[in-house]
Amino acid sequence: MATLFTKIIRGEIPGDIVWQDEHCVAFRDITPQAPVHVLIVPRTEIPGVADVPETGDHQHLFRAARLVAEALGVSEYRLVVNQGEAAGQTVPHLHVHLLAGRDFTWPPG
Ligand code: AMP
Repeated sequence: MATLFTKIIRGEIPGDIVWQDEHCVAFRDITPQAPVHVLIVPRTEIPGVADVPETGDHQHLFRAARLVAEALGVSEYRLVVNQGEAAGQTVPHLHVHLLAGRDFTWPPG
């Protein structure tokens, strides 16, 4: 059974894709938490950080984040990865949130 994000990547359900390469796809979050809120997703289905193997598409996530930020014209941003329910993870397909366009507080709460 494909994950929600795989279905977006395949075009089986709608998604606002802003960037992609052979390893990762980036699309706008449906419930944005900042003026820019994009999810960067490895094409390979990995449930989360706890399941990351030694090699694969996930190795390209940081480079993808840089390229997505450049494509969207933002130079200051926050990257977030939630691992597990208590951390706020709701979709079991590894992804990096790229948030920008407003100030962020630290600690995140
Ligand atoms: P997380 O809570 O870290 O697992 O992040 C999952 C994110 O996916 C949330 O920020 C949701 O708003 C977002 N999301 C859920 N469904 C969709 C969808 N169909 N298209 C785009 N983003 C979605």
